[in-house]
Amino acid sequence: MTQMLRQSLVAYAAPLCETVVPCPTPRGTEVLVRVARCGVCHSDVHMQDGYFKLGEDKRLDVTGGRTLPFTLGHEIAGTIERAGAEAEGAVIGRAVAVYPWIGCGQCAACAAGEENICAAPRHLGITADGGFASHVLVPHPRYLIDYAPLDAGFAGALMCSGLTAFAALKRLGERAQRGPVLLVGLGGVGMMGLALARALLPHAPFAADIDAGKRAAALAAGATAVFDPADPSARKALIAASGGGVYAACDFVGSDRSLQFATGALAKGGKVVITGLIGGTFTTAAAMFPLKAMTIEGTMTGTLAEARELMALARAGGVAPIPISERPLAQAQTALDDIRAGRVMGRVVLVT
Ligand SMILES: [Zn+2]
Ligand SMILES: [Zn+2]
Repeated sequence: MTQMLRQSLVAYAAPLCETVVPCPTPRGTEVLVRVARCGVCHSDVHMQDGYFKLGEDKRLDVTGGRTLPFTLGHEIAGTIERAGAEAEGAVIGRAVAVYPWIGCGQCAACAAGEENICAAPRHLGITADGGFASHVLVPHPRYLIDYAPLDAGFAGALMCSGLTAFAALKRLGERAQRGPVLLVGLGGVGMMGLALARALLPHAPFAADIDAGKRAAALAAGATAVFDPADPSARKALIAASGGGVYAACDFVGSDRSLQFATGALAKGGKVVITGLIGGTFTTAAAMFPLKAMTIEGTMTGTLAEARELMALARAGGVAPIPISERPLAQAQTALDDIRAGRVMGRVVLVT
């Protein structure tokens, strides 16, 4: 029997450990994927810690809903190794990215195609064993997406940071057509958002970041103008540059200050979509919602249909690749440590 090698979470706030178990046998519609690359994400750091910081010493506990040892990793690409008898279309040897945001298939959200916000999720690397391993078991071949000719590490990252940015831009709807959108926070998701905004929207976007290096990178990547939210005159400058405010903004930071900046830049009827999880508490006068006809919406990754749409766009050359550094699976813990310490530029991808 083939063995499955994993870098497992055996306790919260403790280093990952190598565990070896027999490879699972796919049954029914299940597919066993031999993992080739799995990206390491900032959320993996929070999962290992066992909590997300919400700001002001508040924490969101995320230790529930999984038994240890557990395998993190949700940015997975590999090849189909074995398939259950009912896994139609699962061709052995096919190179695929894995859509990890898998739902229960029963609830109203799943019925609407929104498995990413399912109430009883089976999200790979979050509530079901993920890709810091030689193999991953996927419940159905419909979650497998061809990615050739893209790089496997990039294809995996598209299922998380890419999908998040793509879904955020989509939720801006028609407002994103009216003029340049505002992108706040040019980290991994934000830079992906910038590349997608350039590919999909009629106007080059505005970008805002408190880091001068990230503002320069945003300009180089095609932002029409950049702003420093820490500069007290930035809001005024942005209102002037947009001819009275923007109709659509993405907050890829998700802090009190980033959301304050994004909502402060809105024209009447404007909308902010938040994907960031940095934390903090946002307050505004309730009357500002009707007075400014303002919408604030959150999104968590994206749907399977959006993942397929994004992959098609990327395969056609519509998404600029991101910088990737590869490390062996055995260095998963070092990778997490480096991300936690902010020592990483671009995406760290484990070679399994
Ligand atoms: Zn991720
Ligand atoms: Zn569900």
